Amino acid sequence: MGYDGDDEDQDDRDRQDPGEDDAGTDPGMQTDAEVTCPYCGEVVQITLDPDSGSAQEYVEDCEVCCRPWNVQVNYDETGKAEVTVEQG
Ligand SMILES: [Zn+2]
Repeated sequence: MGYDGDDEDQDDRDRQDPGEDDAGTDPGMQTDAEVTCPYCGEVVQITLDPDSGSAQEYVEDCEVCCRPWNVQVNYDETGKAEVTVEQG
């Protein structure tokens, strides 16, 4: 009567969902930036929206002089945003 110690290797499957899209904001993404207004020269803090993609371009008004900026945001792979503000 032999004891059959069958040591089956259980297949430990990785339960990672690489393509899972979180509804919330990735905590590693930069969500604000300081920019210098191209019109009045004031340094203004703006809020970024990482959910809008890694490369963005939009118009935002300066909160100091209310003139329209042409804002370009580019996220790198670490979640850091590079923000460029030009006269629109
Ligand atoms: Zn301004």
